[in-house]
Amino acid sequence: MAVTEKHIEEAMGILKESGVRITPQRHAILEFLVESMSHPTADEIYKALEGKFPNMSVATVYNNLRVFKEVGLVSELTYGDSSSRFDCNTSSHYHVICEKCGKIVDFHYPGLNEVETLAQQVAGFEVSHHRMEIYGTCPSCKKTTEH
Ligand SMILES: [Zn+2]
Ligand SMILES: [Zn+2]
Repeated sequence: MAVTEKHIEEAMGILKESGVRITPQRHAILEFLVESMSHPTADEIYKALEGKFPNMSVATVYNNLRVFKEVGLVSELTYGDSSSRFDCNTSSHYHVICEKCGKIVDFHYPGLNEVETLAQQVAGFEVSHHRMEIYGTCPSCKKTTEH
């Protein structure tokens, strides 16, 4: 079984266990998230699926994403004032973000736990988590600026 298929099946299992009804739309949204691996916005998901589900609205996509978020299937990424992006890679990872086109790519690196410990010691906070983003120009944007 392909990795994406396995991922989708696992996600379906989690939905079932959480008592969430699996509708064709839910299935399609989840499938799109897993297959695209591109951290889409709700709007992008809507545009990709509107042909398949003409009665679906952006609000429906949002509602479904909220359900997925509640059961821990996706995380919501907010960067400044641009619309939220959704990530179905729930293992801990960091992001590289293209400053030109906004593309987000996952990369794995051991968690920077020392930073949290240090912040906790220095500031006396009870630290819950941290965020780190790497910015730059993606290969395809790099190509277009070179010519
Ligand atoms: Zn780019
Ligand atoms: Zn990610």
